[in-house]
Amino acid sequence: MPEISERTQELRSRLAAARAAIGEAESAAGRPAGDVTMIAVTKFFPASDVRILAELGVADVGENRAQEGAAKYAACADLEIQWHFIGQLQSNKCASVVSYADLIHSVDRPKLVTELARAAAAEDRQAVRCLVQINLDAASTGSLRGGVSPSAARDLANSVASAEGLEFAGVMGVAPLAGDPLPAFEQLREISAALTEDHPSATIISAGMSGDFASAIRAGATHIRLGAAVLGRRPTVR
Ligand SMILES: *Cc1c(COP(=O)(O)O)cnc(C)c1O
Repeated sequence: MPEISERTQELRSRLAAARAAIGEAESAAGRPAGDVTMIAVTKFFPASDVRILAELGVADVGENRAQEGAAKYAACADLEIQWHFIGQLQSNKCASVVSYADLIHSVDRPKLVTELARAAAAEDRQAVRCLVQINLDAASTGSLRGGVSPSAARDLANSVASAEGLEFAGVMGVAPLAGDPLPAFEQLREISAALTEDHPSATIISAGMSGDFASAIRAGATHIRLGAAVLGRRPTVR
């Protein structure tokens, strides 16, 4: 039998626990098993972890820094996985992200739509799938965590949908740091429902992290983004 590394064993057991908890949350929400797509957030962890996760059946990974994501993608180009860009995006990084991301979760201002469309044309990509990130924390004016205000979501969604080379695929949100996340995720679902009236195929709701994914699943998330729950504590915060 081939030797299994300690890290493989650790990731395997964390993944099994996360998958079990996701299954429980799906069932508690009256949703079918496997309804929710789990994205393993590999930021700060090495490309070797992406490789192990792929072997363990993970099909989606998320990165929040453009350069780190690009380097990991290059190291894992042979793997059959979907790359998600989930971090705050600077306009000068759009070209890099468009070169490897299958889904960009964090479109939160018109300037990004322009830059992403420009990058899509330069990379000759027909339909870069994008989510509009909504600020679910009415108290955060500094938008530390990013996101367009709910009242501006429709205009931004329309501009993504009409941009050449981009496809509007749904919404993303991060719950406020304090308090019950459920109302925030319910607000996100309501915004999604309003936007899908005009954009019926934009059904993705990316919500929920390691600490609050059960609430997100209850509120209708289609995609959850798990870092610590799957990878363990992040090695360093740079
Ligand atoms: C890091 C990150 C996550 C994962 O966070 P965990 O709490 O480790 O699960 C999810 N979403 C975004 C936007 C992140 O930056």
